[in-house]
Amino acid sequence: MHDEYDSRSIVQLRSKKNKVDPYIPYHFLHEEELSLSGHIESVNTIFLTGKECAFKCLMCDLWKNTLDEAAPLGAIVKQIDYALERLPKADVIKLYNNGNFFDTKAISPNEYPEIIDHISGYKRVVVENHPKLCNKHCIEFNEQLNCKLEVAMGLETIHPDVLPKLNKQLTPEDFKNATTFLNQHNIDVRAFILLNAPYITVPDESIAWTLRSIQFAFDSGVARCSVIPVRPGNGVMDILWKENFYAPPTLAMLEEVFEKALLLKQGQVFVDTWDINFLSKCSLCFEARKGRLEKMNLTQKIQPQIQCSCNTGYVSSI
Ligand code: SF4
Ligand SMILES: [Zn+2]
Repeated sequence: MHDEYDSRSIVQLRSKKNKVDPYIPYHFLHEEELSLSGHIESVNTIFLTGKECAFKCLMCDLWKNTLDEAAPLGAIVKQIDYALERLPKADVIKLYNNGNFFDTKAISPNEYPEIIDHISGYKRVVVENHPKLCNKHCIEFNEQLNCKLEVAMGLETIHPDVLPKLNKQLTPEDFKNATTFLNQHNIDVRAFILLNAPYITVPDESIAWTLRSIQFAFDSGVARCSVIPVRPGNGVMDILWKENFYAPPTLAMLEEVFEKALLLKQGQVFVDTWDINFLSKCSLCFEARKGRLEKMNLTQKIQPQIQCSCNTGYVSSI
């Protein structure tokens, strides 16, 4: 295995960040998602422009749309307003800040009341957070909310050699403890699980470790898992790719891992289809296959496979 990359070397290999405005979210969208009780809900997702995450994970490219410093006091609320003025009504709101919502250096607890005030009317709020930052601030925010809180946390992988190399500064035990802590306070948890984490380059092994990690997440008490196909493009991942320590997943692998994860019947599983164009190898079938994954996200049922002359289906031996 390759020598470990630390935060310094990971940052050194990065390109420039995109220009972002602290008063405008860098992206927002309206989508549908299955609720935990099994009906389709509308979701407004706001990608807040905030302070760069303090962790520097090997596979992360979320830093590209962040600020070096925290957004000025009050700016997060202005961003929420900006997006909501342009979005339709929805049942659920996701406030994703490309980092950790409960990192007080990114979002001050003094801003919680106003944030909560601006999102009143939603049934559920979903925020991202690192398991090590699940602390009294989650509870404080949750106690002020008059709707359900769901915290999305990256478990990434439970591979014992790979997780330490991701520079996430996390153990599976930390993830489990954070999930228990949140559940004890009546907060739902969603896990992000990687497909094709770096250093796992054999397709069968990638699929197997994604499934094991999903199982671990459910055993820890998460309500649902979201599979993220790892993409290159953050600097260090491109070097790992060149050196054969990382291989991008294929669309067929994503399809296969999704089917197998649904067959586990442990809880809801989604695959992230927001940014999977890099998986497209055939213009004839890509959109239909993406549509199938989206349908599987909403139904939690395996849909008929899309046949295509490209024959890029992958059948693993696991
Ligand atoms: S904790 Fe999340 S946002 Fe922060 S560097 Fe890691 S993957 Fe990126
Ligand atoms: Zn095709």
